Amino acid sequence: MTTELLFRADPYLRTADARVVAVHEHGIELERTIFYPTGGGQQGDTGVLVRPNGERIAIVDTRKGATLDSVLHIATPATAQPAIGETLTLEIDWPRRYALMRLHTALHVMSCVVVAPVTGGNIAPTKARLDFDIDMSLLDAARIEHETNALIARGVETETVWISDEELDARPELVKTMSVQPPRGGGRVRLLSIPGIDLQPCGGTHVRNIAEIGTIRVLRIRSEGKRNRRVEIALSDHPPP
Ligand SMILES: [Zn+2]
Repeated sequence: MTTELLFRADPYLRTADARVVAVHEHGIELERTIFYPTGGGQQGDTGVLVRPNGERIAIVDTRKGATLDSVLHIATPATAQPAIGETLTLEIDWPRRYALMRLHTALHVMSCVVVAPVTGGNIAPTKARLDFDIDMSLLDAARIEHETNALIARGVETETVWISDEELDARPELVKTMSVQPPRGGGRVRLLSIPGIDLQPCGGTHVRNIAEIGTIRVLRIRSEGKRNRRVEIALSDHPPP
């Protein structure tokens, strides 16, 4: 079942109401949601669904369902199940999601400092990484940190841009990620634009202005194989434990 993805238009929504359309062993499906399902390297949201009677259903993960734009809200096994047709109040763990948004947008910026094909990536609440197909000798932590923070300091507003599948096929240079296919569907592709810095297909959640990232730190650079040189970063004000 298709779920309306409210975070696409407004990633800053922390709460919303939505009707339950399906409950099964894989999760709870809603008519619309603010919960981002794991995808594009970004972890799925956690939070709570509040029933009309006040009962709180803890959501420990959010994943994509079997069909396009269907979203599965995964509750802890012991929790109560909502009834189909019931209207729930959705609340995401906002501090966690905001950290994911800041780190995710930071990776877009960093991918313009390290100019090489991206072979992998992951965004967790306390750290994020990109893997590059590049020689280790070209990766310098201090330079990456300095140049990424200098770009962030420009304080540019981000924009969502949609293009057709055909336009994307005609501009293969837009796709830096070799491991993650651009989010296609309905004949159009969503791009994140950071004017003057980056433009690439992405279905994730980003901050409105890159200044919200603050500054980043490079935690480590290591080789994970010939084509996977991993650069791991954290937010300066939100370092990993
Ligand atoms: Zn993105």
